[in-house]
Amino acid sequence: MKSFVISGLSCQYGRKEVLHHVDVEIPAGAITSIIGSNGSGKTTLLKAMANMICPSSGACLFDDTDIRKISRRTLAQKLAFFAQEHPDCGYLTVYELVSMGRYPHGNESAEKFREAVENAMRLAGVEEFAHQRLSELSSGTVQRAWLALALAQEPELLLLDEPGNFLDPAKKLMLAATLQQLKEEKNLTIVMVTHDIDLAIKSSDHIIALSDGRVIKKGLPAEFSGRETLEEIYGISL
Ligand code: ADP
Repeated sequence: MKSFVISGLSCQYGRKEVLHHVDVEIPAGAITSIIGSNGSGKTTLLKAMANMICPSSGACLFDDTDIRKISRRTLAQKLAFFAQEHPDCGYLTVYELVSMGRYPHGNESAEKFREAVENAMRLAGVEEFAHQRLSELSSGTVQRAWLALALAQEPELLLLDEPGNFLDPAKKLMLAATLQQLKEEKNLTIVMVTHDIDLAIKSSDHIIALSDGRVIKKGLPAEFSGRETLEEIYGISL
């Protein structure tokens, strides 16, 4: 990915505008976290970046092309979305689930297919569960299997919606390490939505804070550790 630019983006549900003219440039080959309190518009912004909802004005530009002009299949080769909630696919094995990530790539050799699926499972740390059904696994492992599906797409841009949910503190540290590894090994650009400012500070190169559908602060993680920042972003006084 050369560039991903969010330009003058506004989104509404019915008549209610929840994102107001957002301008953001996502740094390539880096990890960016979008933080903010519940209802600040984080998930809406991420969905707009994945072309899952249509903005009321503005656009998201992938390498200078409006994502609405990119075919769904091509977009799925460039960009993967890890959702907050996943459908119940307990009857599938991890291997079967992760294999679905190869659909956008169409006809490819069996060797390339297997290599991509196995590599994705390795990166997400679910290789040892490949032939177990999701219904037999812990919720944290199931989350990682869905992450492996996104990685099997071999995207250039990975969008993660609250990936730290359901993870205990040790697993959150592992997640932060996995994201760093993905960035370094795959040169992935990663955008993560989280309300967890500690996870954002530990795992990101850049942070964007939203409040009430507007960007109120952008910068390096070190700029987000002060008390004033918490007050500003979460509206709490400590
Ligand atoms: P966050 O991810 O920061 O919690 P969201 O993007 O989910 O915020 O939501 C932003 C606002 O949009 C909230 O007021 C929420 O209630 C509203 N909203 C989100 N999804 C929908 C929807 N499908 N229909 C109507 N309103 C929605």
